[in-house]
Amino acid sequence: MTLRLDLLRNSLAETFGSARVGTNEPLAKHCNWRVGGPADLFVSVKNAHELIQTVRLAHKHGIPPTILGFGANVLVSDAGIRGLVILNRAQRISFQPNYLVEADSGTNLAVLAKQAAQLGVGGLEFLIGIPGTVGAAVAVNAGTRTRWISGLLESVRVLQNDGEVEWLSPKELSFSYRTSRLKQTGEVVIAAKLRGNPDEPANIERKMKKELQVRKNQPTGPSAGSVFKNPPNDFAGRLIEACGLKGFRIGGAQISEMHANFILNVGGAKAQDIKAIIGHAKSEVSKRLDITLEEEIRYLGQW
Ligand SMILES: Cc1cc2nc3c(=O)[nH]c(=O)nc-3n(C[C@H](O)[C@H](O)[C@H](O)COP(=O)(O)OP(=O)(O)OC[C@H]3O[C@@H](n4cnc5c(N)ncnc54)[C@H](O)[C@@H]3O)c2cc1C
Repeated sequence: MTLRLDLLRNSLAETFGSARVGTNEPLAKHCNWRVGGPADLFVSVKNAHELIQTVRLAHKHGIPPTILGFGANVLVSDAGIRGLVILNRAQRISFQPNYLVEADSGTNLAVLAKQAAQLGVGGLEFLIGIPGTVGAAVAVNAGTRTRWISGLLESVRVLQNDGEVEWLSPKELSFSYRTSRLKQTGEVVIAAKLRGNPDEPANIERKMKKELQVRKNQPTGPSAGSVFKNPPNDFAGRLIEACGLKGFRIGGAQISEMHANFILNVGGAKAQDIKAIIGHAKSEVSKRLDITLEEEIRYLGQW
């Protein structure tokens, strides 16, 4: 371990107690694909204050941190992640007047949607089926075919790279299809304010059930959901299927027979297997259909 990492580990241990600071933590168990090597240093934070403290400490020691929510949209390399990984479990939710909801960035989207439903706050139903945390959903502008989380946002509390924390408007975050400024800058989402609308709890429940029903047609098993963004006016899954790649397998990773934009860990996959399938699908779609697919998932760690 380098001197800088050692110093950071000491600072984290002083702040949280050494039992909470992991070394060589296997990341496969924190990622939905169940692959990925170790993080040099690892801390799970329980609230927004701890998240801010930890990110600031990392920057102070010259080590940019990696934030993980549920690891449902990332492929962590087999070599793992050098430096510090912060598992974000800051999950306070507060309901405010006029259907405004403030949620910490580690809040589970499904929990948020369910609590909103109970209180008659509508509009958040589509979040029920997206596995992940509020912070990542904001950073990647998660959503369905018809609704994106950016459409609900009033403002986002962001820890900027200079250590300042500010509430920013959606305009300042340059949202578009599955992306935002936050994906480029490495700034950290601390919390978000979402604006719902009045609705009957029973009606919201019905809408959530519909959202989940649609997902019954999705493959189950360890995956990261859709691997590629849909190109304009088309679907990545359709293109991959058109190249005859449903069921294509490398090692323990396989393109789903059910939905060709999903790659499943069917047992003992390595991150490298998944990466190789992604490369193959991209190259086949480009060669045969002259369309360049772009990944929706993020690569983390050393490749
Ligand atoms: C079965 C399945 C279905 C899915 N369906 C959908 C869908 O319908 N729509 C959709 O959009 N996505 C979908 N996804 C992908 C995934 O659910 C979303 O991208 C979700 O937002 C990921 O959240 P997470 O907490 O797991 O993020 P992670 O995978 O942990 O992180 C994703 C990225 O965000 C960064 N990040 C995490 N937290 C923060 C933070 N607080 N501040 C800044 N950056 C942060 C991470 O560093 C990483 O780069 C699906 C995934 C699966 C497995």
